[in-house]
Amino acid sequence: GLPPYDDANIFARILRGEIPCKRVHDDAHALAFHDINPQAPVHVLVIPKGRYVSIADFGASATEAEITGFWRAVASVAKDLGLEAGGYRVLTNMGEDGGQEVPHFHVHIFGGRRIGRMVP
Ligand code: 5GP
Repeated sequence: GLPPYDDANIFARILRGEIPCKRVHDDAHALAFHDINPQAPVHVLVIPKGRYVSIADFGASATEAEITGFWRAVASVAKDLGLEAGGYRVLTNMGEDGGQEVPHFHVHIFGGRRIGRMVP
């Protein structure tokens, strides 16, 4: 089964304001900030405000308002960062095989260069 949510994870601490971040968007359902170790000219993380471990947990348990608000924020952040014209990639890692490091659901937005085809 899915692991329980760990309130000590780094994104929970960012949400509580215990750790600083370079914020680009903040609303009722989502927070977006620059990744500390960017893999593209633009590399932003978008996280829901609720306590969800992964996309599995989020998809199964979040309310419709949370899901809608979150995905609207993802598209809005990409647009606000000027990525719509050139395009961008949205990615989420889930669990061990997915390479997920931080156990609070997040999506990566990559842009600002040609990202190329996804390779596993
Ligand atoms: P994951 O592998 O879980 O999908 O990716 C976690 C991401 O979080 C990584 O790209 C990593 O660079 C980023 N990250 C880890 N710790 C911090 C932090 O304290 N601040 C920020 N802004 N990003 C972080």
